[in-house]
Amino acid sequence: MATRGFASKRSGPFNPLSPEPYKVSRSKIDLFMECQRCAYLDMRLGVKRPSMPAFTLNNAVDELLKREFDIHRANGSKHPLVERYGLDAVPLVDERMEEWRDALRRGIAYLHEPTNLLVRGGIDDVWVNPAGELIIVDYKATSKKVGPSTEDDLYDSYKRQLEIYQWLFRRNGFAVSPTVYFVYVNGKSDAEAFDGKLEFDVELIPYTGSDTWVEPAIYDLKKMLMSDEIPPTGTSFGGGPCEYCSYRENAGKILLELHTKNKKRSWQEIECK
Ligand code: SF4
Repeated sequence: MATRGFASKRSGPFNPLSPEPYKVSRSKIDLFMECQRCAYLDMRLGVKRPSMPAFTLNNAVDELLKREFDIHRANGSKHPLVERYGLDAVPLVDERMEEWRDALRRGIAYLHEPTNLLVRGGIDDVWVNPAGELIIVDYKATSKKVGPSTEDDLYDSYKRQLEIYQWLFRRNGFAVSPTVYFVYVNGKSDAEAFDGKLEFDVELIPYTGSDTWVEPAIYDLKKMLMSDEIPPTGTSFGGGPCEYCSYRENAGKILLELHTKNKKRSWQEIECK
């Protein structure tokens, strides 16, 4: 195992001259897969995207699901949802569970020595099957007229998220099942009234993950971090910029034009006096 201790919550910008391992969360890898330019702005130049408001309702669902599965972890029993889908698995009992769940402080981590990148991520849950293979599990909450029910309904970023976790656990020496599971809860909005409660349909969606892309992505990410060239915009936007990029560029241009015009005007005013 090649993990090392680390204390700080987040990394600052990457410094090509620093011998220290650079911490890369699974969401930064996802950012890199989505758009290398934004990834470069964030990790190399220290300009981060504005943070999103916290999804507090989703967080509450996550917390309650964790507690529910933890009861079965303590009892060594199968959750009724797992029974319903005929899956032979129970929540994994391991003293590192809380550490692996804590994305901000530690999570599951692996130092990829060839790149000196310390890759990490915080999981929702891990189950184990009778063969001793770990099953990576993520809880997702939404509210749609028709909720997701097959892997075709899953976002690519969700699949990449669990594939990175599979890679991290394998690199930490665990046998990992190729199948991951999404515990997907869909808030029902067709009730007659709110009445102080929201009901959910709960589905278990399996997905056969492949982590073969993860290590090549880590090498590419390191190459980008070492380079002084700013990469082009969005690989996942058909090669063109996303709408935020056009907004940012246009706002920047107009502000610069106005600034230059105002500066010229004030110089002219000084010269006239
Ligand atoms: S297209 Fe522009 S704003 Fe959008 S993700 Fe890429 S660099 Fe960021």
